[in-house]
Amino acid sequence: METRPGLGLSQRDAGILDSIPEPLVIVDRQRTVTAANIAAVRDIGIAYPGRALALSLRHPAALAAVDEVLLGGKARTIEVALRAPTLRTFTLIVAPLQWTGTVGAVLIFHDVTSERRAQQMRADFVANASHELRSPLAAMVGFVETLRGPAKDDEAARERFLDIMAAEGARMTRLIEDLLSLSAIEADEHVIPQGRVDVARTLAEVIDTLVPSATEKDMRIRTEILVALPEVAGDSGQLAQVFRNLIENAIAYGRAGSEILIVARPLERMPEGTRPGVAVSVQDQGEGIAREHIPRLTERFYRVDSGRSRKLGGTGLGLAIVKHILNRHRGRLAIESEQGRGSRFTVSLPAA
Ligand code: ADP
Repeated sequence: METRPGLGLSQRDAGILDSIPEPLVIVDRQRTVTAANIAAVRDIGIAYPGRALALSLRHPAALAAVDEVLLGGKARTIEVALRAPTLRTFTLIVAPLQWTGTVGAVLIFHDVTSERRAQQMRADFVANASHELRSPLAAMVGFVETLRGPAKDDEAARERFLDIMAAEGARMTRLIEDLLSLSAIEADEHVIPQGRVDVARTLAEVIDTLVPSATEKDMRIRTEILVALPEVAGDSGQLAQVFRNLIENAIAYGRAGSEILIVARPLERMPEGTRPGVAVSVQDQGEGIAREHIPRLTERFYRVDSGRSRKLGGTGLGLAIVKHILNRHRGRLAIESEQGRGSRFTVSLPAA
């Protein structure tokens, strides 16, 4: 007995069907499968030819579409979700198979799972971004009302409210800057950066700009570069942004009065690679991050504690930006953390 579809087809015809990468099924007027290609067996679970379609395609809307076509209807396209074996979404085209009148129907499945997922992610992203912008905006509008009404002649309240409004405005500005920089980075994520970057110098420039905010929390930034580093291939502005985001987080989430240790060293081999590179780690003494959160930290707007992140002025986009810049640079990010002690974020970049 034939253990794969192709019943009633010549070897050549079966070969032609199998060379089509999308699942394809042919049924006769009784809705019996007369042919199916390998993709249909593998991805849809269509049983051998000679059996009723309904036995392997348990989808009422799909079967109804086939029936309508078999009764002389025009070709149609529907969307079907199938457990195949994980839940996947397909657009299914059902078309009449005609020689002398309708002799059967052809079913062609096109997997749109990742397109649908991307659409959903875009929709979620827009919803999240709007939500993030709405809360500072609502706060500002609220204070404007209060300043016009109840607090009109209260000098002290007015100063306090104006301070809060300035802070909320700054938060919205940061959010919009991060959103714009994320979309700019995504736009050329597939363009390999051409420049050569001196990591030690870039780090020193970034640290210079961050010393004042560290000092405000009585924190010290210590840099350790014991061996000369090779240049890395990259865009110096973007790599500065990676280091800035990581060190800003170390300042935000590190304990007041503690030290941030930055170590840069040459790598003989990139993690999971063969090329040499440079590793830069940023280590803080903070509360650390619980293990279950670590894999999700680079998702947009993912935060362990959103109230806390917002209070610290965070946008929830810093590590997402880091991830996209590193993708573009064929770099890696490793996150280690011990709760109650601190975290270490290590960036590896291939040498130029
Ligand atoms: P945020 O603007 O909220 O800091 P990020 O994308 O930079 O956004 O970081 C996402 C989340 O990861 C933060 O909200 C925080 O919960 C966690 N996180 C990042 N860096 C650290 C760190 N050094 N120590 C502890 N938690 C951190």
